[in-house]
Amino acid sequence: MMHDQPVPDTALCRPLRIAMLSLHSSPIGALGSRDTGGMSVYVRELSRALGARGDRVDIYTQGTSTATHTVTLYENVRLVYLSIGARDEIPKQALYPHINLFYEQLEAFRRSERLRYDLIHSHYWLSGWLGLRAQKTWHVPHAMTFHTLGAVKNMVGVQPPESPQRIAAEQILCRHCTAIIVGSRREARYLEQLYKTAPQQIFIIPCGVNRDRFYRKDRQGARKRLGFTASERIVLYVGRLDPLKGACQLIEVLGHLKNVNNVRLVIVGGGAENEGEKAALEQQAQCLQVHDRVRFAGRVDQTELPLYYSAADVVAVPSQYESFGLVMLEALSCGTPVVAMPVGAAEEIIQNPVAGAIIQDGSLRTFAHAIARFLENGKAAPENEIMRRASVARYDWRLIAARIRAVYQRLIALGRYGWMISDQLPAYPVACEPPALVCDRLL
Ligand code: UDP
Repeated sequence: MMHDQPVPDTALCRPLRIAMLSLHSSPIGALGSRDTGGMSVYVRELSRALGARGDRVDIYTQGTSTATHTVTLYENVRLVYLSIGARDEIPKQALYPHINLFYEQLEAFRRSERLRYDLIHSHYWLSGWLGLRAQKTWHVPHAMTFHTLGAVKNMVGVQPPESPQRIAAEQILCRHCTAIIVGSRREARYLEQLYKTAPQQIFIIPCGVNRDRFYRKDRQGARKRLGFTASERIVLYVGRLDPLKGACQLIEVLGHLKNVNNVRLVIVGGGAENEGEKAALEQQAQCLQVHDRVRFAGRVDQTELPLYYSAADVVAVPSQYESFGLVMLEALSCGTPVVAMPVGAAEEIIQNPVAGAIIQDGSLRTFAHAIARFLENGKAAPENEIMRRASVARYDWRLIAARIRAVYQRLIALGRYGWMISDQLPAYPVACEPPALVCDRLL
């Protein structure tokens, strides 16, 4: 049985001490740039909500100064910059060989502060790899959230294949971490089918949304602030300019909407490092003769995003892979409908035709029809906007963090009073052994 229900809040009543590992991406990094997106939001919001409940959370990420140091982010939440002496941020593709060094820094910091954590929660396979090592030494449960899975990316196939090292590491993590938290039923199925993960190891808890940030603003006021006219029909895309996120598909969709007057596609996301991707999208728009209908807004600070969501008629999520789909929640929380490919938690989030449409056949023509429906009706009646916002009330981060915390409590209780999980870790299964570097001495 897979767990998709909250677990009773009875296992431990005192505040918890949690080591949150987010090595490649800082929770306060520039959202919408190459490697910084939903995972940073997840780590930041979850930690903040846990801290507000009284738990003590240390988020570990890579630092670029000469010594490991900490910054207080929120009440009870610290960000620990682990230093291995690198002056520049190490890109995620190059981090793996340094994991042992990061572990040494992590352990030195923990010892110097005399910290005893109740639980580790790792994010993305690289941090999972770090967490696996800490799990073995600290004898505490290790919860893992992958955010994306290499095997699924390879299955989608729009990018160069993920390294065998990543796939093998993910397989090992699936076997040895205590629990895996996923944001959608689809992601749970991927884990079962592609990684043979035991269903009882998987907890389905959706991602949250910050409803204090994402709420409806006056539509015309928002348009004025952003330089859009009242008559424009705005389709909004928000996300990194990564091929998996499908901005290029959306340009093609725009090509199918030539008969609809006054359509404008607004693309939010992508930093200076994405000039190549942006140029390719511009060229594609030129070829399809829709370039005058596209506006690139660049990376937008998240505090400004509610203006964009409120100004838009519809938000498009053309992704080929999402482990969850934060943007869908943010849009609905601002009262704006969503048209999405069947990815991540789309089916769980978009539950009626007022909230939006899911394009089950994956066709761009169908996608365009669905968009046109919302453009013709505009956002329609104010009660629809209220309904959309209400439909995501259950995703409020405070509620989601409480559910994740209940899983933590359960794992801690099992470790203490059930079996000592980390003592049971076997040596590497030969078939899964990753090919290089730190792996052979890890466990
Ligand atoms: N975002 C942002 N500014 C931007 C683009 C994105 O603040 O210019 C935020 C957006 O609000 C969302 C996150 O980045 O919370 C992207 O989430 P998504 O799930 O699409 O990211 P991924 O996991 O694919 O990186």
